[in-house]
Amino acid sequence: MRLGSTKRIVIKIGSAILIEGSSGLIRRSWLQGLAADIDVLMSSGSDVLVVSSGAIALGRNVLGMHGSQLSLEQSQAAAAVGQIRLARAYEEVLEPFGIRTGQVLLTLDDSFNRRRYLNSRATLETLLNQGVVPIVNENDTVATDEIRYGDNDRLAAQVAVMTGADTLVLLSDVDGFYTKDPKEDSEAERLDVVEHITSELEALAGGQGSTSSKGGMATKIMAARTATKAGCAMVIARGSVLRPIDRLQKGTSCTWFLPAGNPQTARKHWITSLKSKGTIIIDDGASNAVKSGRSLLPAGVKKIFGRFQKGDAVGITDLRGEAVGKGLTRYSTNEIERIRGRKSREIEEILGNPPQAALIHADDLVRWTTALDRPAKD
Ligand code: GLU
Repeated sequence: MRLGSTKRIVIKIGSAILIEGSSGLIRRSWLQGLAADIDVLMSSGSDVLVVSSGAIALGRNVLGMHGSQLSLEQSQAAAAVGQIRLARAYEEVLEPFGIRTGQVLLTLDDSFNRRRYLNSRATLETLLNQGVVPIVNENDTVATDEIRYGDNDRLAAQVAVMTGADTLVLLSDVDGFYTKDPKEDSEAERLDVVEHITSELEALAGGQGSTSSKGGMATKIMAARTATKAGCAMVIARGSVLRPIDRLQKGTSCTWFLPAGNPQTARKHWITSLKSKGTIIIDDGASNAVKSGRSLLPAGVKKIFGRFQKGDAVGITDLRGEAVGKGLTRYSTNEIERIRGRKSREIEEILGNPPQAALIHADDLVRWTTALDRPAKD
């Protein structure tokens, strides 16, 4: 299988590929090749996000921390020093292509706390809409053991889910997923395609280490589970070669994990599964707009029930009490009380911050087309 056309792709780069072990410096020519790959992807219309490790490896070299095991504080200090260089390196190689970059540092909380999740997602979305390549890493300097991912495989999968990416590429020091550890067993076979992640497969992953990431194969399989469930295909491929994405496009040995459904369907399933915190009653004009797939604007809101915050799921009902759909609100109850019935251009004046035209954006809205669509219990 080859890497075909992709609308949105997340590329995860491990420290062992990016940083040369002996000198502790960035492999410049490799990174320039990756920048050329990113340019090709973007020229064909793909949004690209990079999740890059390497902050700790770079920083420890600068600080002369040569011991084999760093304490948490040491790695946090190393990350602080290394992250600046890491982000700068991406900026330097992408700039000649006219591609702008932005640094995004996330913690585990940004994927579990819903409001922070929505905020991070909105920022990433804005960067992508501006044609910027987000360079993402874990915020190692503040993330302590209990609240950190600790590995960028799972972080990359979360970023893919958060942004509704259709492809996640894990560039590794191995060229895919093997039935046994290929470094220890000559009978190990690489799988070309994994359709379902079974518990047998997870057990196989358990013992396989990978020096390019903290977690080895086990975290890669966890990442695959997260990504594929959200409709995102994932591939593990050897990253150390020059122009690794170009290779994937031409066809190279690797392992593909096939997605279940597509990112949009997965997202709608997720929204359907959320418990509604309230109900928004809308007029007929808004109801027709929602039914034909458009966003819900504040102008069409007649009444609200319940108390909810920005990002909460709410039910949408028409004037006859008929349930129309469900979605994630971009405004809290208090804000809606102040802007309901108002035109989008008046909102900035009332709320004092730039308006988001939609109260519930079409991407965050599930419409009930038949009575059967509606969940029995909400
Ligand atoms: N966030 C770490 C760093 O930038 C790397 C984590 C990993 O290797 O998965 O150094």
